[in-house]
Amino acid sequence: MIDGLIAFIFGSSLGSFLNVCIYRLPKSLSIVKPRSYCPSCRRTINWFDNIPLISYFILLKGKCRYCNSKISLRYPMVELITGIVTVYLYKRFSFSWNFFEFLFFSSLLILVSFIDIEYRAIPIYICPMGIILGLIFKLYESSKYLKSGIIENLPIVNSFKGLVFGLGFTYLFKLFGDLLLGIYLGLNNKDSIEGEKESLGLGDVDFMGMVGVFLGTKSVITTFFIAPFFGLFYSLFAILFKKSHIVPYLPYLSLASFVSLIWAEGIFTFIGF
Ligand SMILES: [Zn+2]
Repeated sequence: MIDGLIAFIFGSSLGSFLNVCIYRLPKSLSIVKPRSYCPSCRRTINWFDNIPLISYFILLKGKCRYCNSKISLRYPMVELITGIVTVYLYKRFSFSWNFFEFLFFSSLLILVSFIDIEYRAIPIYICPMGIILGLIFKLYESSKYLKSGIIENLPIVNSFKGLVFGLGFTYLFKLFGDLLLGIYLGLNNKDSIEGEKESLGLGDVDFMGMVGVFLGTKSVITTFFIAPFFGLFYSLFAILFKKSHIVPYLPYLSLASFVSLIWAEGIFTFIGF
């Protein structure tokens, strides 16, 4: 119980740092300096106004202490989600190398999702950087396998297969999707659908490569096929409430890859592979 609480506090603090990254990375600002400040009045935030969840809901009630401007609900949401994810990973992997590896991966998922929701694009270096760090994580893990004399099923080998498969599979789908979209637009004499000319962006391809590195080939497949269902739910919501139907896609891919992290093996066992 107490260790779960510590995991939650650690996770929500990590979420607080992710909030800083979500706000600053797309603006090319440093994520270490200066200290957190209010985006409206630019006054530095006191440490006691920066306590995950508690400050937002109890001390500040969603408003800046100085200028009273509303603080985005995104801040406590990211803290809460990261906290819950951390507790889940801790319960599943306890305090192991896999825990850190998947916590890092999940943090990247949260990061790209919320940046994509806000900007409809993410800085191009995030997923390639995730790929490189993921390979380093797996290389270290493999070295421990080798030390104990295990040479089969090395994490780095699975990771590399996952990378090639994730990039290749998604890229082929993109080419195919672009072709269909091109034919559709050609037949209907349109330039694009609400400014969209691509079925999938290259960012989605990088993202799936990253999923392959951390979770392996099977999870690339489950992620790829689960994500559209999440997208579909949102699209229905958007149609009902007449919002724009351009949907940022990375949040669905992220959600689907987290579901894969939890259940991919189970799904494959279930369908008999
Ligand atoms: Zn302010």
